[in-house]
Amino acid sequence: MKKTNCTLAVLGGGPAGYVAAIRSAQLGAEVVIIEEKDLGGVCLNRGCIPTKALLKTSEIATTIKRSKEFGLESTIKDKNWNVAVDRKNRVVKNLNAGLEQILQSRGVTILRGKGTVLSDRKLLVQTDVEPIEVNCEKMILTTGAVPLIPPIRGIDLEDVISSHEALSLYFLPESMIIIGAGVIGLEFAAMFSHVGVKVTVIELQDKILPNEDHEIAAELLKIMKRRGISFKLSASVIDIQKEVGGLSVTYLMGKKEFTQSCEKVLVAVGRKLNSDIFEKLSLNIVKGAVVVDENMETNLKGVYAAGDVVGGKQLAHLAFMEGKVAAENALGFTSKVNYNAVPSCIYTYPEVASVGMTEEEAKQKGISVKVGRFDFRNNGRALTLGEREGFVKVIANQDNIIIGGQILGLNASEMISELTLAITLKAKADDLADMIHPHPSLSEAIWEACGDLLGRAIHQIKRK
Ligand code: NAD
Repeated sequence: MKKTNCTLAVLGGGPAGYVAAIRSAQLGAEVVIIEEKDLGGVCLNRGCIPTKALLKTSEIATTIKRSKEFGLESTIKDKNWNVAVDRKNRVVKNLNAGLEQILQSRGVTILRGKGTVLSDRKLLVQTDVEPIEVNCEKMILTTGAVPLIPPIRGIDLEDVISSHEALSLYFLPESMIIIGAGVIGLEFAAMFSHVGVKVTVIELQDKILPNEDHEIAAELLKIMKRRGISFKLSASVIDIQKEVGGLSVTYLMGKKEFTQSCEKVLVAVGRKLNSDIFEKLSLNIVKGAVVVDENMETNLKGVYAAGDVVGGKQLAHLAFMEGKVAAENALGFTSKVNYNAVPSCIYTYPEVASVGMTEEEAKQKGISVKVGRFDFRNNGRALTLGEREGFVKVIANQDNIIIGGQILGLNASEMISELTLAITLKAKADDLADMIHPHPSLSEAIWEACGDLLGRAIHQIKRK
């Protein structure tokens, strides 16, 4: 059998894996990365990037629908979703090729095929051509996660799809029921409803986005309802059946049973970590997550893990950082992930972005907080853009040090970096309130929210 030796083997070519490989190569290691499907993992191929490419089409549809308001009345003549999907595929392909070039330019060996861990120093890769044994000094496990399929009757019917298939629909369905009002469910609800699909979201809990700030989640729910998305909260799907032209979905709300027809059902109830493939290693795995220390090292010396498979927030940018930290520690350097400043973004209309603690979390931890808030309806730039929905919340401790922030509004995913930087640098609300923000800009809402926290917001009517 063909054999290869390396300093470091990385199993999985997603955001954690490819960053670990690139960083290790930058530090002079001989690196092998093993990927069964496409480089870039779920994020690049079936997640972050393709959803955002398709969401751009939905955003354009929204702009056209509002065109009269801006003095340029236009209508949507044809909806060719296949063109949008092709465009998305080109974006993905472009990034795929770029990533492969980057890895090659760094001298990383890419092995394509299913990798199996044989021991803490050995892997077997089943490539198309031949099996290859990889012997390494250290390894980093970055095997990610896959969509969770709940045990519902009829879940395996052809028109019941996961986020993966939803990204490659060449025709828009008339109607869709989305199970789960988490991040994935809501991004797809926004994507499809804005191009005219009749969307109903069925959620087990009595609110959407259970892990977000309650006020933001409640406001987003109102906005999405106003835009025509229907929500069934505190509801659970119990049965899906095939019927002429689509599916019939039965769900329970309280003790009452309801049935609704639709063309497609999209399941978005969370993701299952790919940690059940390490049976040859005596890894410490708790609730499906590979346990790591602050160096991203597992209970086995020299075996590291990073990204979704270690549990916690499943975010590509967190995976980037965990991959980098795992690589640096594996190669004898010392680095850590700052888990206090992890931004998370939801690409709905408008967007949601948050970092650090919410008001509720701080209270649960017994931290007494000060909260500043500023509404976009009082922000000049938001009004010029016709985007007055949403607000910024800044959370600080009693010394005014910023420990959290949440934004609901246009471009929230871009603006959250200011609050992430503030938390990283342990800045005070005073620092941001005294910093000059460009006018007119949406980011002024952060300046004003910090001002509000200190009792000195400018463009705000005095609170009673
Ligand atoms: P999630 O955990 O965010 O949400 C799942 C939702 O489904 C929850 O609200 C839950 O209460 C509900 N649910 C569970 N079982 C149900 C059932 N049987 N019937 C109805 N509702 C049910 O999971 P997700 O949205 O699938 O996302 C998975 C992960 O991927 C998350 O960690 C998410 O943060 C991450 N992700 C992030 C982004 C981003 O950063 N923009 C995008 C996509 C996914």
